[in-house]
Amino acid sequence: MLNDALNEDKDTAVGLIIKEPSVSYKTKEYRHSLVSEIRAIRGKCDSYSAEKIAERAHLPLKWLDQAPSMNGEKGAEKLRRERGVLLLKNRTSPFIEQFQHPIGRCAKFYKLTAYNNCNFWCEYCYLYLTFRTMPVSTHFVNYEKMFREIVSFDRANIPDTLRILNLGELCDPLAIEDITRFAEELIPFVAKETQKTRLLFLTKSDNVNSLLNINHNNKTIVSFSVNTDIIHQQLEHRTPAPEARLAAAKKLQEHGYEIRLRIDPVIWYSTWKRDYLELVQKIFSYVKPVRITIGEYRPSKGLATHIGSRFPESSLLKVTSGLISDGTKLRYPEEYRISMFSTISNTIKKYDSNIKMALCKEDVKIWKDLGMPVNGLYCNCLE
Ligand code: SF4
Repeated sequence: MLNDALNEDKDTAVGLIIKEPSVSYKTKEYRHSLVSEIRAIRGKCDSYSAEKIAERAHLPLKWLDQAPSMNGEKGAEKLRRERGVLLLKNRTSPFIEQFQHPIGRCAKFYKLTAYNNCNFWCEYCYLYLTFRTMPVSTHFVNYEKMFREIVSFDRANIPDTLRILNLGELCDPLAIEDITRFAEELIPFVAKETQKTRLLFLTKSDNVNSLLNINHNNKTIVSFSVNTDIIHQQLEHRTPAPEARLAAAKKLQEHGYEIRLRIDPVIWYSTWKRDYLELVQKIFSYVKPVRITIGEYRPSKGLATHIGSRFPESSLLKVTSGLISDGTKLRYPEEYRISMFSTISNTIKKYDSNIKMALCKEDVKIWKDLGMPVNGLYCNCLE
């Protein structure tokens, strides 16, 4: 009965309606460059680093006297234009901070904030809400301060499971690596100067060539977020195709990097089952990930307004109206979650019965219903 009900999803409240491919956010201008304007804050940004980044992007560097404020301008066009902006500045608050989930559904991992926000343009991105007052992508260029903090972190008394610094909580840390060359500096630094610390890059980018021949000393993990082709085409604008990400993962794996994957956000739509099964098949034709973490679409309650102002026609707006409340988030009803997670995880096990799998920020009851071990967490962001 349940399966029948779930298969008739096309027009239910939670089912994503599949639309004809749209080209509105994939104009030539955006396809060829994620960054179309570079700004830096005078007196608050190392000029040598900023000039180098602008030079690599073949763009003029625009110096500002202060951080750009909300200028009163509104509308989808302004938000779209801002997606091409990269702001460079020094970070004054700590680079390394501990993550705290509002209702304790996640370990207190450490995050390393090298960027705020992102130049990709996914319709479901929670950063629209997080950075609602500062919507442009920002890169912090005072690496010396960051490196000092990393050395202190390495010497601090921290449980082994939390020795990973997560770079993907507030950005995609490899989206514009070809311009910043930040990872290319950070990875060898951690390889050489730390004993116990490891880095975790969570990304949708395939921008990895500069990482292939540097010394990582097995201290860097790259975790690729992948999804079905339909989700990519409809919702993950300006990002490389999932297959290109898997090809990048393969290259890194061949160069000794630990590869993890996230299938997240899993979204319900008419052909979800077939498409996620194909995705799993595709994953194992490219890489042997060390672990895979699965997460459902779980927007914060205020996110729909921000999605609507950027993507007024977004299918996610209809999906949101059919989700159920859970603390500060909205989630799929339990039976949908169990159906999606069990279908995907059972298929993964057919390809690798020993793989470590986890659910992201999911209720313990769902873990138990799926027969997944709740002790000894093997999720994406932990050692
Ligand atoms: S890649 Fe991640 S951080 Fe960037 S827009 Fe998409 S969801 Fe947001």
